[in-house]
Parts: sequence; structure tokens; C-alpha cells
Amino acid sequence: MRADSIQQPLHNQALPGLYIHAPFCRAKCAYCDFYSVADLSLLGAWMDALEREMALYAGESGWQTGFDTLYLGGGTPSILEAGQIEKIIALAFEHFAFADDAVVYAEANPCSADLEKLSAMRRAGVTRLHMGVQSFDENNLRFLGRSHTADQARQSLNAARQAGFSFLGADLIFGLPGQTQKAWQADLEQMLSYKPEHLSCYLLSYEKNTPLWKRLAKGVFAPLSQARAASLFAFTHDFLTRSGYIHYEISNYAPSKELVSRHNTKYWNRAPYLGLGPGAHSFYKERRWWNLADIKGYIAALKKGKKPVAGSENLSVEQRALEEIYLSLRQSTGLELADLEPILNFDCQKAWEIALQTLEAKGFVSRPKGRVVLTPLGMARLDSIAGMLIQNLPL
Ligand code: SF4
Repeated sequence: MRADSIQQPLHNQALPGLYIHAPFCRAKCAYCDFYSVADLSLLGAWMDALEREMALYAGESGWQTGFDTLYLGGGTPSILEAGQIEKIIALAFEHFAFADDAVVYAEANPCSADLEKLSAMRRAGVTRLHMGVQSFDENNLRFLGRSHTADQARQSLNAARQAGFSFLGADLIFGLPGQTQKAWQADLEQMLSYKPEHLSCYLLSYEKNTPLWKRLAKGVFAPLSQARAASLFAFTHDFLTRSGYIHYEISNYAPSKELVSRHNTKYWNRAPYLGLGPGAHSFYKERRWWNLADIKGYIAALKKGKKPVAGSENLSVEQRALEEIYLSLRQSTGLELADLEPILNFDCQKAWEIALQTLEAKGFVSRPKGRVVLTPLGMARLDSIAGMLIQNLPL
């Protein structure tokens, strides 16, 4: 970690975040298991349903403190027409209170992010734009089933700056079959030439029932070995921290503390958030609920004046503790034992002492002032380290 890497919680997490899921994509990417449809014929009905859903939650006491983030995600929000994006943001501000310094995020896909669209998004109030680039290599884009070319990605990144975005975030994917460090470095270098204010580098994962998962299961290709994936992860950390970025979450980098994702940090810190739209999840006071991941069912429920909720759960002590461990260890702030112990009513420090000494000796964790913080080597082994700690808990 850099000397000024983040060792303290990043933002006052008291206010909730508002997420809106735009469930439309030009085509389904081969690795993606987010809910979205390629048929745009229900777009108008989805907009009406979304307004009804906002009205159902607007008067609820839990959200009256107001939000300090609005995140338009998907799916592909940039596939919407400029006027539709403007209307959604205006509706959110009509129905809910927002802090004066609220941040408005939107995701964009190079297949639908030209200068005209991005300028309209900027005028509509989007302040932080996240572009899903994934790679600048045409073969990688084809393998991932992306619906844009590398040239389109370059044009969209340039257009974002021309449209006036002073905050430009981008997503990249690494760990593709056969990917070398040199090839991944070329993607990173090209991305850094745009000087993004935020960078997410995701290790490719094979989510069940996606086209990529099916091809892997049939043996069409061999995945990268775990050792090579861990080596690319470590290389990413070294390369980006040397380039001035802070590695503040397992997959996320920002050039300064002020530029970390205020919205996503709420998920990792178990702060409240309200999710609207098909498949969106919400969290409030240890209760989680999720919407129908079915656009027709979502629209039908709201036409009847009902919330489109598919299920909910009150988190048990065990679930709270597991989430606290996993979500905290993902971040450079690490796990504060004083946050975990009251959930379990148990002395974790004592129970973990031997395991932590071993992990520290291997260079996987550091222990600043009552915290357990994973080193980059440890982050690459998050699941096994968290599993080892959990084994020593009374769950
Ligand atoms: S554009 Fe994004 S949400 Fe849509 S299918 Fe691809 S990865 Fe999934």
C-alpha cells in the first residue's frame, strides 16, 4: 500500500444511497449475470413503473434523512435517450431529499455513449461517469461478448472529457484465458493515458449459467490458473500504486481519498441503501430485500400499486458477522475488531491470535491499532483468509 493509503473509514456513512437499475442492454455480454434485457419495447412502461416505485418509497421514514448519492446503473443506462435520463434524475430529486453535496453517478457503455449522449447526461446532472471499457484488445472484447469495439471505447472516453466530465471512471477486466502480464499492462497503460479519476479492475469470474461459464464447463477453453491470476492481481496493485493510485478496495483504485466511490463504499460498509428497478437490492437496519428480476413482473406489480419485492430477510447474527468480515477485508481500511465483537459478543482478538500471527508472518495481513488489514498478497487470497478466520468463531 502507498504511505498515504487509506487506513481510516472513508466517508461519513450516515446518509443512505439511492440506486436505480436500468435493465436494458444492447446485447448480453458472455460473462454477465446482472439482470437486463435486450428488448427495449418495455422501456416506456419501465419508466412509468419506476416513477410509481419512487412514489411508494418517498414517504417512508427510513429515507427521509435524504440521500447523498444517486447511482444510475444497470444494465446500460446510456442506452436510454437523453430526455429519459434527464427525467429519471429529475424524478428522483422530486420524490426524495438529497444532501447539498450529493453525487450523481451513471454507468455508460461505449456502444451508446457518443458526445451528444454524454453531453446530455452531463447537463442532466450526472457528475461521475463510469465507462465500461473492459479491454482495448479486440480479441478480448469478442471473447467477453462486448457490443463495442476498442475504437468506440477510445472515442467514448475522449467524448466524456469533451462533454465536461471532470470525473471519469472506467472498468477493466483481467485474468482472461492465456492473458500475459504484458498484454494486461498494455490495457492498463492505455487506460491511464485518459487519466481516469477512478479505475475498477475486475478479475474475470465465471458466473453460473452465463454463456462463458457454459463454454468453460464444456472445456472450450482453459481458464487462467489461480497462480497466474494472483500474479496479475499483484502486478495490477504494483503498477497502479506506482502510477499514483490508491488501492482502496480489492478491485478499486482512485487517485485520492476524495475520489473513492462514495456510493459503493456504502455497500462495503453496510450503510443503508434503497434500490429501485427490476432486480435491485435494498438494505436498511439489518434487513435486506430485493426486487423481482423480471421486467414484466416488476411493471405488473407496480401497476397494481404494489412494491415489486421478490424476497426479504432479516440478517441473523451469523450473517451480519460474515458480511462484516468479508466486506471489511475487501477494503484497505480492513476489519475493525471493535465493530465485529459486539455483533458476536465474543473476543475475536483472542480467538484469532494464532491464526493472525501466522498470516502476518506470511505477509498476508498487517495489524494497525486493533484492525486486521489484508496486504495485496492477502487480498488475492481473500476467500481462504476469511474462511480461516471464520472457522475460529462461535458460529
Ligand atoms: S453491458 Fe454491462 S450489464 Fe449489460 S450485459 Fe454487458 S456487462 Fe452486463
